[in-house]
Amino acid sequence: MIDLSALKGELTARARALGFGALGVAGISIPEDERHLLRWLEQGLHGEMHYMQRHGVRRSRPQELAPGTVRVVSARLDYWPQEACDAPAVLAQGGLAYVSRYALGRDYHKILRQALRKLALEMQRRIGAFGYRVCVDSAPVLEKAHARDAGLGWIGKHTNLIARDAGSYFFLGEILTDLPLPLDAPASAHCGTCSACIPACPTAAIVAPYRLDARRCISYLTIEHRSAIPVELRAAIGNRIYGCDDCQLVCPWNKFARAAAHPDMKVRHGLDAPALPAVFRWTAAQFEARVRGSAIYRIGYERWSRNIAVALGNAPRSDDNRRALEERREDSSALVREHVAWALAQQAKGTTVR
Ligand code: SF4
Ligand code: SF4
Repeated sequence: MIDLSALKGELTARARALGFGALGVAGISIPEDERHLLRWLEQGLHGEMHYMQRHGVRRSRPQELAPGTVRVVSARLDYWPQEACDAPAVLAQGGLAYVSRYALGRDYHKILRQALRKLALEMQRRIGAFGYRVCVDSAPVLEKAHARDAGLGWIGKHTNLIARDAGSYFFLGEILTDLPLPLDAPASAHCGTCSACIPACPTAAIVAPYRLDARRCISYLTIEHRSAIPVELRAAIGNRIYGCDDCQLVCPWNKFARAAAHPDMKVRHGLDAPALPAVFRWTAAQFEARVRGSAIYRIGYERWSRNIAVALGNAPRSDDNRRALEERREDSSALVREHVAWALAQQAKGTTVR
């Protein structure tokens, strides 16, 4: 007979030893979140993320993803890169490129998946075979809802999960399991009367508390969105070339953010504050070599170039910015050419001369 309470205690201790900030256990029923998801999809707020529509309610029913699942074990891995250049300072310097702080090190998917697999295998060694599936963005799971139910934090008005003792700069991963581990109490919400994230969003993507229009969100536009960035949103993107952290940067709970402990999360290739023309001049081969193994790699060279062209269009007028754009006026990608042409027109209109 397995003592599931003792097993959960061991699991929590091992998770800490493996570098996780917290671990909790939730059941599988999230009907209110399912309704919220369906309304969001009906309104088309998911943009080009058609896979979300395709997955439908499978995303809110983990037992359909891994039959026999009765618990979702959620774990948190803190990523805030303590040594990186100050985020608001980089955002304020239009000649620099801003990369979301979670993407400055190696790809978190791999780090998180390996650690969760290790945890599950250790449990198997301890109690014998049981059913489980590790999920890290790789499977359709409403991870924030399960993490909330597992006591890891509440879903803030910006729709990210927030922990009272760790803010919101962390990744989540799950182990779906058929082990009926004891449940944790769901976390309570603590946004209160604060609404700082809503006006802080450069593109007004938080259309109401707890409701995000992904089609306007810079994270979506620079990462998930494959085609041209809507012209009316380009100026508001500023110098953000991969993701956006603004709604989290203003969140008062992030004064409790925890620094990343994992060495793979250290900043690579000076991506915390690179000059825009310098990164725009990377060749496809340099892009491959420099961001392989990072989350950025998944968007590919074309989208990377598209994003930087937009940022160069928003950058202060300068000869170097303009030259970097001119050099790729005849780029082999029609997508990049169109964004370069837009950016050159913006540079021609600019008023700040450096
Ligand atoms: S990530 Fe940026 S664009 Fe998206 S909701 Fe937050 S502040 Fe707005
Ligand atoms: S900024 Fe305020 S409203 Fe927004 S998530 Fe943080 S606490 Fe909640």
